[in-house]
Amino acid sequence: MRPPDAPVLPSYGTTGNERLVLAALRGGAVLSRAELSATTGLPKTTVTGIANRLLQRGMVVEHTADSGRQHRGRGRPASGLTLADTGGLVAALCFSHTTIRAAAVGWDGTFAASRTSDIGKDRDQQRVLDRGLRLLAEAFAETGSTPEQADLAVVGVPAAFEQGVGAVFDQLPDAARTAVPELAKLFGWFRSDPVPIVTERLGIPTTAENYANLAALGEATAGAGRGMDDIIYIKLVEGVGAGLILGGRLHRGARGLAGELAHVQVLPDGRSCLCGSRGCLAATYGGFVESIGRSAYPEPLTFADMRELATAGDVGTRRIMADLGRGFGRALADVCVMLSPEAIIVDGMLGAAAEPFLAGMRDAIDRRMPNVLAQSLQLLPGVLGERADMLGAVAIARTGQLPAATSTR
Ligand SMILES: [Zn+2]
Repeated sequence: MRPPDAPVLPSYGTTGNERLVLAALRGGAVLSRAELSATTGLPKTTVTGIANRLLQRGMVVEHTADSGRQHRGRGRPASGLTLADTGGLVAALCFSHTTIRAAAVGWDGTFAASRTSDIGKDRDQQRVLDRGLRLLAEAFAETGSTPEQADLAVVGVPAAFEQGVGAVFDQLPDAARTAVPELAKLFGWFRSDPVPIVTERLGIPTTAENYANLAALGEATAGAGRGMDDIIYIKLVEGVGAGLILGGRLHRGARGLAGELAHVQVLPDGRSCLCGSRGCLAATYGGFVESIGRSAYPEPLTFADMRELATAGDVGTRRIMADLGRGFGRALADVCVMLSPEAIIVDGMLGAAAEPFLAGMRDAIDRRMPNVLAQSLQLLPGVLGERADMLGAVAIARTGQLPAATSTR
């Protein structure tokens, strides 16, 4: 547990101007209030007020000239404000449909240690969660500590997830869940809210969040969406989903289920889906991108194969990715007209497969959106790769966006 006198976790409700100041201090910068005013464009009095609030919350500290850190760029001894280094760690335990990732991550996004493991065919939530907790213990052991000593645990979950409930589609009648057997199988292991179990085991404040939401926050704060307040993030490689950042905040929607892109209807008369609807992206394209390409290749295709084929310029793979991009573009064009995001950022794990995907999406979006909106909408590959969810796990607390259901132990 954190000692009681340790700086409090970044609080809820950080304002836009506070975020500007925090962003200016990233990367170990030490800036005076006057320099912060010049960097952010905010009046000095506003910066002073913000600095006082952030100091009070323990998010920044006063840095004096003799404490060793060099001033950014000019080499003179530094004096001013800098981000608080609590020395603490976040325990990030991120599940996708295929993979467990566990990491000890510093509040500044530095990875102290991490472990990865395939979920394999295991469909028992308790066992999969236990494996995740063991990986977490291994990662923390490498730092000379234990997950119980972390400031906070964040669990990323690969499903339509309602805080305090768990996987919502698991609450549906069996008939609906088994309509698309390959999808029902995917969700087999994730059912109930993992927060009570992880809180019990680690004894530290714990929260759970949808994996696409975490990755969206990761890319927004430390990746391709840095400096943007309105983005749509698309997860594609280890499951399909979306995360929405609106006005600089994660948009969870009324029940925390915003961004369930896999269940946007693309074929009105399409196959029934486990969510109870029909013709969803998930039911039409299957749970994984590579399942679309399987019929065209003699060997069973993995996504790693597709990425390699795309890198080698394979025409078939490029066409599959472009068609998929068009399908997603059609589903997202209306959303973009309504929300006018600055960018759509696509899963950084796509690698070379991102280029044809984004070209297909560009085509579909340009056909369906007013020119002026389409032209200002950037379509970008993510840059954080498989670290996006784990960096989002830090960002969710760092930017004061923990869900209300976070346990406090
Ligand atoms: Zn569905």
